Amino acid sequence: MSRRPFRIGRSRTGLGLFATRPIKKRSRIAEYKGPLLTTKQANKIEANGNRYLYEVNSRWTIDGSPRSNIARYANHSCNPNAETYNVKLRVFIRALRNIKPGEEIVYDYGIDYLKNVIGRSNCKCSRCRKRRNRRAVELRLKRKRRAARLARERRKTRKMKRLKSRG
Ligand SMILES: [Zn+2]
Repeated sequence: MSRRPFRIGRSRTGLGLFATRPIKKRSRIAEYKGPLLTTKQANKIEANGNRYLYEVNSRWTIDGSPRSNIARYANHSCNPNAETYNVKLRVFIRALRNIKPGEEIVYDYGIDYLKNVIGRSNCKCSRCRKRRNRRAVELRLKRKRRAARLARERRKTRKMKRLKSRG
């Protein structure tokens, strides 16, 4: 029935797009569809909390919030397997590399979105999760080493006290 190479599914951040069959590098995946707004109109609805605005150029922005715009479910990643590109005033998502069935289709929303909307420390993409996990492991190891050192020092002090008390 569906000719789309993906489905909407549960992801770490809510819903996401997942490949249902192999997607070849550089092939078009979906169009980011919605009404075209002027920058002025876009700024207004952005202030009202619309998070699906795609700035096509300095004059035009796509309001991707309609549910029929399936591309809006593609999440952000700092290690993306897809990217967006424009053809005049239309925006498409294409594969940056070969994508395997089951993989989530993600693209980089850009540094402004990451900083201002997601927040660098809140990014749940695979790269940021790995980085944070690695940091947590390092921190645990550091604490362990410190505790071991303190224990060693305490044992040493006790030993010296015993030696002193024996006189
Ligand atoms: Zn990230």
